[in-house]
Amino acid sequence: MQDPLFQQKNDIPNQFITELPGNIQLFMKREDLLHPDVSGNKFRKLKYNLKQASENGYQKLLSFGGAHSNHIAALGAAAKLFQFEVIGVIRGEELKDEPEKWSPTLEYAESCGMQLHFVSRQDYRLKDSEEFIETLKSKFGNFYLIPEGGTNELAIRGCEEILVEEDFKFDFICSSVGTGGTVSGLINSSAKHQKVLGFSALNSDHLRQEITGLTSKSNWELILNYHFGGYAKVNVELIEFINDFRKKYDLQLDPVYTGKLVFGIFDLVERSYFPEGSQILAIHTGGLQGIEGMNEILKKKQLPQIDY
Ligand SMILES: *Cc1c(COP(=O)(O)O)cnc(C)c1O
Repeated sequence: MQDPLFQQKNDIPNQFITELPGNIQLFMKREDLLHPDVSGNKFRKLKYNLKQASENGYQKLLSFGGAHSNHIAALGAAAKLFQFEVIGVIRGEELKDEPEKWSPTLEYAESCGMQLHFVSRQDYRLKDSEEFIETLKSKFGNFYLIPEGGTNELAIRGCEEILVEEDFKFDFICSSVGTGGTVSGLINSSAKHQKVLGFSALNSDHLRQEITGLTSKSNWELILNYHFGGYAKVNVELIEFINDFRKKYDLQLDPVYTGKLVFGIFDLVERSYFPEGSQILAIHTGGLQGIEGMNEILKKKQLPQIDY
């Protein structure tokens, strides 16, 4: 099988961003440039899952997500590329009969051929139960199941390929954290002298346990100070930071993950968290497809738009 997805570009050079106070140098790994449709860490997380599904003869994929999910967008794009059928189980029953309320993400996923199956928030919470999966199987037939956010063992294996040998020169590896899969891959492939910092996009203490369970190393820390109130929550300060950053460095950040990550790094520098002369590598995990949908929400709330 000719598989454009698996032929990732691992030759995108780390981009120097800026020198921060204390001779601290910030670089960014541009995972957002890995693939035009299957962006960033979602590419890494899907890679070995799609391989496995294909090798085991599955024709159908199924996964879960919210209306703005980067995972759902990436999965739709990847399924189209590899000619899988794909079902997205989407949180929000009310969207079923109101396609005019669909987010750009859902419109995009459907345009890729994803069959959208809307469920209530109550049902959505059952998504890991065997009973619920069986109901889905009787409805859709057999499928290869990818969990919400795409995190499983194969996803972590894919994320272990983000860091390459030349990255061992960095003192700190910084990444945004949702389910913890990406940061776990980074931790697994980091060198002993490096510290991996996970910046949580969620207000959730149990992520620490989660990551502990997914890795066997201890050279990492979960930082919970920069979630801005919780998942997909934003304020004017964050939006202005993202817009300023774009103007200054000609680099687009997203409001759910990478914006909070870079905001956090800048703030920690100001608080003298990093030793003098530290070399920091931040992972740009992508997620830019979500900006359009976020801007629609911001408009309704009469908050400023994210420049894009
Ligand atoms: C999904 C996502 C994350 C979080 O990845 P996890 O593996 O779930 O922790 C981070 N950044 C972006 C842009 C994402 O889309």
